[in-house]
Amino acid sequence: MKNIEVNQTNAVADPWYQALFEANPQPMYIYDAATLGYLAVNEAATAHYGFTRDEFLSMTTRDIRPAEDVPALLEEVAQLRATPQTGFLKSGVRKHRKKDGSIIYVETAKELLMLDGRQAICVLVNDVSARELASRQIERLAFYDDLTDLPNRAKLRSDLEEAIARAQGTGTSLALLVLELVRFREINYTMGHVTGDQLLKRIGPRLRQAAGDNATVARISNVQFGVFVSDLSAREAMHLTNRLLNTLKDPVPVGEISYELGAHAGIAFFPGHGNCADVLLRHADIALFQARKVGRDYAIYDAVHDPYDPQRLAMLNEFHKAIKEGQLQLYCQPKASFQTGPITAAEALVRWWHPVHGLILPDRFIPLIEPTELIQPLTQWMLKAAIHQCYQWRQQGRKISLAVNLSVRNLLDPDLPDTIDGLLKIWGADPHWMGFEVTESSIMADPLASLRVLDELHQMGFKLFVDDFGTGYSSLSYLMKLPVDVIKIDHSFTMNMIEDRHAAAIVKSTIEIAHNLGMEVVAEGTASKEIWEALALLGCDQAQGDYVSVPMPAKEFSTWLDHSSWACSTAG
Ligand code: C2E
Ligand code: MG
Ligand code: MG
Repeated sequence: MKNIEVNQTNAVADPWYQALFEANPQPMYIYDAATLGYLAVNEAATAHYGFTRDEFLSMTTRDIRPAEDVPALLEEVAQLRATPQTGFLKSGVRKHRKKDGSIIYVETAKELLMLDGRQAICVLVNDVSARELASRQIERLAFYDDLTDLPNRAKLRSDLEEAIARAQGTGTSLALLVLELVRFREINYTMGHVTGDQLLKRIGPRLRQAAGDNATVARISNVQFGVFVSDLSAREAMHLTNRLLNTLKDPVPVGEISYELGAHAGIAFFPGHGNCADVLLRHADIALFQARKVGRDYAIYDAVHDPYDPQRLAMLNEFHKAIKEGQLQLYCQPKASFQTGPITAAEALVRWWHPVHGLILPDRFIPLIEPTELIQPLTQWMLKAAIHQCYQWRQQGRKISLAVNLSVRNLLDPDLPDTIDGLLKIWGADPHWMGFEVTESSIMADPLASLRVLDELHQMGFKLFVDDFGTGYSSLSYLMKLPVDVIKIDHSFTMNMIEDRHAAAIVKSTIEIAHNLGMEVVAEGTASKEIWEALALLGCDQAQGDYVSVPMPAKEFSTWLDHSSWACSTAG
């Protein structure tokens, strides 16, 4: 130890202090506050750090700090010099480097002294490496996934919470993606867990690399990964999702074999889809479920598909009231024949006049109520209104048949034919006045049960339409087995058939095959004269769409017919 000459007011002058310094079992050292060069070290310090006393005295205190910690050290020293105080000042946990290069974690107590008329800093070191490493290990176990080394669900959740708070502060947005591996369970099952684990180990770094430095990537369950990025537009989020999904499609080699995985993804945005981590995670999960269900690569959260969405539940409640309180109205949209003749058919479409929100179109509420029992009273209401309307038209001498839409739950109701029969009797109505439209997907939900009801309705004399044809999974050859009379080409094909060759080809071949199978074809979405003319050339039977007329209140239909050129000719 160099001879320490100190300011008389300083305790360092005290021989007791010097003895305490030298004999202290805890490492202690003193360095120049301006140059940071060591002025004194005790024996415990040389023993602990591995440097000899001479080595220490030729070094500065920067030399035992990792480079990234030096700015913080300089800041601390500057503060201590600027605001000298009596007694030791404790620090938080810091990293120090020993002579052998190993890192230790220490807490220090620092005091500013006067030595030879210059400022010096005396440091007492407490090595807390054991405690620190144990707590880091515990944190690792609690917050990281062992296999992939990625943060786990708990860590993602807390990081997401912090990122949301920051985004709230800066008024920015945030995108959360949940990716779920497909085929992983099969591989795990058939090739064993060791292979499964190897696969996951490879996937972690791949995802992290594809996600980029701004993203947080976590493994949030066995086969799910969560990724969030701040300040990302919807378009950028979709690009990122595609990039990640493509990464997961690349074969993953394990041993001799390359495995092809793949994934679905769900996306939710802050603030649009929720303002806390749990809600965003749940919404991204619902979007993922939706993507999986419809066989898409990814889906963005949409409350329509969320069974727990409070707005959805509120709407269901309100719809219940709407039926009872007469807020529903029957609208009709005519179907015009390409052969000469007056309009003889229309589709029955529901409209909801909400006392506060005004007109609500069926696309907003039918998907919400279809999975619930509420679809039954709606169908009942529509059937009554449609049969009554047909009766009134007959009273006026008009032979218009009206087609009512049926949902999957209606098709699974074995009492439906009897119910309809009862309603017909009230008005002395005939099944030829009516038709029923059912979508492919509602038939496919339970083909056998649907077939039973459809067969019965067909035998009673009702015309049956397959609605939204082309959007489901079934084939025309399957439809051949169903008692179907008419195919309705979905408006997404009809409306695009002029500019999209693919859509035009689907319209053309649907018409050809349906005719070969003895079925008629209605093209919904006939929105313009051009489409009408193209359909006429293809031999389509009927057209429904804005070009003929938008849907109108059923009670205005007669007046419209009286004044419309469509009433008696189909010149278009
Ligand atoms: P949908 O059965 O396929 O009915 C045809 C839909 O396409 C109608 O929409 C109609 O207005 C629209 N559309 C037809 N041609 C055109 C066109 O040229 N341009 C445009 N932009 N749209 C056209 P709407 O009335 O909004 O009904 C939507 C869907 O709601 C219906 O599709 C049907 O699936 C469902 N829906 C409506 N009423 C009922 C009902 O009473 N019961 C059930 N179960 N579903 C219903
Ligand atoms: Mg329909
Ligand atoms: Mg349709």
